[in-house]
Amino acid sequence: MKFNTGSLPIGVREYSFVADAGTAGLDDRFTGDVAVLARVEKSPKMIELKATIRVPAKLVCDRCAREFEKEMNVKYRMIYFFHEHDTGGYPEEEITILPSENTVIDISDDVRQYSQLTIPLKVLCDKECKGLCRICGTDLNVNPCSCVESSTDPRWEQLNKLLKQK
Ligand SMILES: [Zn+2]
Ligand SMILES: [Zn+2]
Repeated sequence: MKFNTGSLPIGVREYSFVADAGTAGLDDRFTGDVAVLARVEKSPKMIELKATIRVPAKLVCDRCAREFEKEMNVKYRMIYFFHEHDTGGYPEEEITILPSENTVIDISDDVRQYSQLTIPLKVLCDKECKGLCRICGTDLNVNPCSCVESSTDPRWEQLNKLLKQK
């Protein structure tokens, strides 16, 4: 996922890259190909890159334990400056200083990192996922179980029994 800055004309150019998720260094939750569309705009002081990444992933829901596939999407911007003194006012995480005006930009590392970040800490098959019944383990998305009506925390049921004994 590379392009040469020296041969890049002033103005806008678009690149597209496709790589196998494994080859791109992604972990095995990512399946298939990573597709990257990069819009690159070169001006005398800098090259602004806006990338859109699409990659399918096979995930396991943290609530119902179901495996599901989802296409992950992420966009990021990176600005490559020819000289450090031009970087003022831009967010630090979007700045890269190029070693020279004629060099090769390789976006593979950024693509890998941004792709990994598409997987949230808490994975849900659906934000409405009902999860598993805490008492009988039924997947409540598939069918409601009979425990639902008296769905008190089992610890409270123990306590209720104790209270009745008194
Ligand atoms: Zn779920
Ligand atoms: Zn149940």
